[in-house]
Amino acid sequence: MDNEALVAVFRLDSECRRLERALAELPAAGAALRREGNAARERRAARDSELADLDQGIRRLEREIVEIEDRRRREENKLRDLSTVEHVAAKQREIDALAARIESLELRVLEKIESQEILQRETELRRSTEGDADAARERELGELERDTALQRHALERTRLDRERALAGLEPTLARRYKRAFGKHGHGCVAALRDGSCGGCGEALPPQDALDLRHKGRVLDCQGCGRLILWVES
Ligand SMILES: [Zn+2]
Repeated sequence: MDNEALVAVFRLDSECRRLERALAELPAAGAALRREGNAARERRAARDSELADLDQGIRRLEREIVEIEDRRRREENKLRDLSTVEHVAAKQREIDALAARIESLELRVLEKIESQEILQRETELRRSTEGDADAARERELGELERDTALQRHALERTRLDRERALAGLEPTLARRYKRAFGKHGHGCVAALRDGSCGGCGEALPPQDALDLRHKGRVLDCQGCGRLILWVES
């Protein structure tokens, strides 16, 4: 049976391929989690800056109200010094306009305070669910990192085992393997599947298929150049 050592190589190649694929997918999973985290931070920052804007707007309006109230008081003081009815009426109109202006500014302050309260409540409600989501993401990232380290370790070990298994191939088979590996990498050995090459599907002559199974022969696939062998599934 010249295929026993090759079966071991085949299994280790498959394992290398599986681990390499799994490792290739992990960075994308980590990047997706980090993107999610960044988006959540940006949403929070946007809400905070909206709150800060509202706060600033309220302060600005309040300053404006104080200034206009001062002016109104000054204008009211001037009323005493006016001698004609016309002048008093004109001044009174001016004072009324200032009062109306103050009233409309106060309304705007109230509106802003209301928006601020709504946003603050929303922010507090979201903070707890977002905190949970952050913690879950951090946990997942930690698991991913551990997983990556474990898979990397497993891959190194599997590669070493494969090197050892390769050293067990008899020289002619080792040369054939090397040729196939140059073309197909870790997928260079295929299992016989339903009388065909498990790599490309090329059908084998029935006698060859029987020899693979019962005599442990190893064939070069005419279709793809992989080595084909019988593997007990
Ligand atoms: Zn093939």
